[in-house]
Amino acid sequence: MLLGDGLAIALGEHRYGAARGTASSMSMVVSTGVGGGLVLDGQPYPGPSGNAGHIGHIIVQVGGDPCPCGSHGCLETIASGTNIARWALAQGWQPSSDSTARGVFADAACR
Ligand SMILES: [Zn+2]
Repeated sequence: MLLGDGLAIALGEHRYGAARGTASSMSMVVSTGVGGGLVLDGQPYPGPSGNAGHIGHIIVQVGGDPCPCGSHGCLETIASGTNIARWALAQGWQPSSDSTARGVFADAACR
């Protein structure tokens, strides 16, 4: 079975994680983007397009920043790891010397 990352995390959380023991659940992943997936009655639910539960492109700020999907104000434009880092840098936050963090924040600064 081949799954997108949002549906895969939903299935993992449903079977082994925070949603274990529930009939249905929605899980989300925050990384360079914001994704999610649904498990309904114990089964992964991709929906007709494979993107059921993919909440990153729900508009949460009308007229907000442009999103790579072509819309504006999507959740992902605010709450992705990349955009959280960009916001923090704009507020004057300075990343630590940790090399992993440097890579993430350097990527955010370049966008
Ligand atoms: Zn979008």
